Amino acid sequence: MQYYSTEQKAPAASLQQAVVQGLAEDRGLYMPERIPTFPADWIRRLPEMSFVEIGQEVAAAFFGEDIPRAELDRIVAETLSFDCPAVPVEEGIYSLELFHGPTLAFKDVGARFMARLLGHFTQEGNVNVLVATSGDTGSAVANGFLGVPGTHVFVLYPRGRVSPVQEAQFATLGQNITALEVDGSFDDCQALVKAAFLDPDLRGALRLTSANSINVARFLPQSFYYFHGYAQLARLGKADRLVVCVPSGNLGNLCAALVAARMGLPVHRFIAANNRNDVFFQYLQTGSYVPALSLRTLANAMDVGNPSNFARILNLYDHNWLKIRKDISGAVVGDGTILTTIRECYEETGYLLDPHGACGYRALKDGLREGETGLFCETAHPAKFQETVSRATGADVPLPDRLAAFLTGSKQSVPLSATFPAFKTYLLSYALR
Ligand SMILES: *Cc1c(COP(=O)(O)O)cnc(C)c1O
Repeated sequence: MQYYSTEQKAPAASLQQAVVQGLAEDRGLYMPERIPTFPADWIRRLPEMSFVEIGQEVAAAFFGEDIPRAELDRIVAETLSFDCPAVPVEEGIYSLELFHGPTLAFKDVGARFMARLLGHFTQEGNVNVLVATSGDTGSAVANGFLGVPGTHVFVLYPRGRVSPVQEAQFATLGQNITALEVDGSFDDCQALVKAAFLDPDLRGALRLTSANSINVARFLPQSFYYFHGYAQLARLGKADRLVVCVPSGNLGNLCAALVAARMGLPVHRFIAANNRNDVFFQYLQTGSYVPALSLRTLANAMDVGNPSNFARILNLYDHNWLKIRKDISGAVVGDGTILTTIRECYEETGYLLDPHGACGYRALKDGLREGETGLFCETAHPAKFQETVSRATGADVPLPDRLAAFLTGSKQSVPLSATFPAFKTYLLSYALR
């Protein structure tokens, strides 16, 4: 399978090139040259398949020509070592819990898959992984790569804008993980990473790759979730007229859901839930895309003012706004509503949402129509946002052991100004050769 750039000004790449390079030379994002489709009777068999079996089949559809099947099956099985249950919240609404991985947030699957795929491709020679994070990406990638020989991960994060628990998950690890605490916003971090890939000196001196959701190896495996979510609802006889609601920031997860539908998964329609950072919502309303500076919200992993994967969505729909609107509707959930939603949902159903899941649940509940079943992604464990969740509900949210363990480590971040020369100098001295 070949991968082409969404900007269409760079040559097509092999899977290995697309994964190692991350971003195409023309600053576009790689997309598979075609979206494989499953026949209807394969879809009918989904309820009998496990998460791992589903992941293996979906992965083989994309990567089967490029990686021996036994190796790919092993990579998927190692990646999906935890479940993603669809939990009933109330009549007609299910929560697809994507937070049972090592860092208790949904990016674990993409990060673990990518680390193993990169391990497969870079058996000869060291590679430096750059990742900008607004919170959860950094921890998922850092933990996905921790101790993987021949790799060094640099996590760039905005100072003071990630929660203490999030920070502890990537800034205390040591070994082959370096946390860079940037004096700026998430968008600044993302801009530094993008600039590094385009810098001829760095490209000449170092092998650099990206682990942001722009990497095909991170974004595509997220489609496993949707097949598995559908399979669970189909088992209950609840998969007809299924509405999938995705709390969205950089739009990687939504894009993976759209890819799953394009592969043949019967999803009736999608809802993209934004927080106050509503660039995508505005696009759905008006047809014009106007990037903005990111605003801080309670759902901070969705604080993205210029979502990278928008380019992939445009691409998937031939830049046709009407077609996009036919499949996806949008919603905006402000901080006040996040708090009342967490409280009301807890009081009425006993289900504890995190601020990101709260955006999804709210948008779904408000948007669901007669005869539809709703499935929203719960993207982080509520304990990762203890303070907000306790403020909303008055309930104690105990830290799971896995999270508490991170907090016992000491912070080892390196402070960095948000200017490219400073970042470049740092990398030239400290990156793996
Ligand atoms: C990354 C993240 C999101 C947003 O996902 P995108 O793929 O960037 O749209 C939502 N919730 C949580 C907890 C996240 O970590």
